[in-house]
Amino acid sequence: MKGTFLVTAGDPSSAARTGRIQTPHGTIETPTFAPVASQGTVKALLHSQVEELGAQVILVNAYHLNLRPGLETIAKAGGVHSFISWPKPILSDSGGYQIYSLSPLVKIEAEGVRFSSHLDGTKIFLRPEDAVDIQRTLGSDIMMTLDYFLPYPAPKPKMREAVKLTSAWARRSKDRFLEAETPQQLWGISQGSVFWDLREQSIQDLLEVGFDGYALGGLGLGEPKSELMETLEKADLLLPKDRPRYLMGMGYVEDILEAVARGVDFFDCVLPTRNARNGTLFTRQGKMVIKNQKYAQDFRPVDEGCGCYTCRHFSRAYLRHLHERDEVSSAVLNTIHNLNFYLDFFGQIRQSITSNSFAAFRHTTSAHIEEGIT
Ligand SMILES: [Zn+2]
Repeated sequence: MKGTFLVTAGDPSSAARTGRIQTPHGTIETPTFAPVASQGTVKALLHSQVEELGAQVILVNAYHLNLRPGLETIAKAGGVHSFISWPKPILSDSGGYQIYSLSPLVKIEAEGVRFSSHLDGTKIFLRPEDAVDIQRTLGSDIMMTLDYFLPYPAPKPKMREAVKLTSAWARRSKDRFLEAETPQQLWGISQGSVFWDLREQSIQDLLEVGFDGYALGGLGLGEPKSELMETLEKADLLLPKDRPRYLMGMGYVEDILEAVARGVDFFDCVLPTRNARNGTLFTRQGKMVIKNQKYAQDFRPVDEGCGCYTCRHFSRAYLRHLHERDEVSSAVLNTIHNLNFYLDFFGQIRQSITSNSFAAFRHTTSAHIEEGIT
């Protein structure tokens, strides 16, 4: 273990904490949000814009990059940082989620997963060792283990099998990871949905192997909110305090806040960027659907309290016009606002924990969200 995570402050009223993850490409202040850049780009934005908005880390996808442009190309370019020209930390997802959600033919075997590419049907066999090798070649700062992912709801016996396989693959991933010296980190992914006995087993198995960080996978898929929160609370007690915790793919502000209160440090989600392209904007008062007729002559900014480029210069009426005309700038301006909203929100979370006011921040934010806007 490299001792790459340092807790810097804790909230007395909850398990929320701030921390720092050290990587070869810089420090990540937590709790943090990683904008999704599956193909090596945050859709609709330039890297310079993503950096200006305050992103500290982006998430690329090993599944997509391995298929196209292919590892050879990225290796020739000198790794993923160099290929995409992003100087800050990068987390690469192993691609498990994409295999199970995109591929038309998936066959799970003890040795690995057999699937066909969603692009051209090419048959691919991916072992956990391959996922490590691919991410090593990418040169991402944080690599994820290959897990076995099931959609929700899954019957318990099937989930038990998924946990068993995920644990075995985690062990093999770590063995492969240890074969060569690298400054990269390897984080393990637990499964088990909201069956606590299975989730507990999964986490225990990962702890036995030992990882630089621990992810909670397969959550936020429609399971009851109370069960999800209970799972996070119990996981918080089980996970070591000196390792970052990553709740994969969860993106609603209210859920993020509650997850932070339960000790989660790292988040990613397509929500702010995907919704921006669909014309749904996040504001302190809730979601705004910009295509609505009522904004046609509304010359106020999207969010009067927002300092982003979009809100400083453009009205709801203009953004609605761009969206209705299907202009490229609609996606750009909406994404700037939504990503600013998320990254600013995380800045406020960190600030409130550091200044001992997280409880008040949590309370007022939840109250604002409940009022709604659309
Ligand atoms: Zn804005």
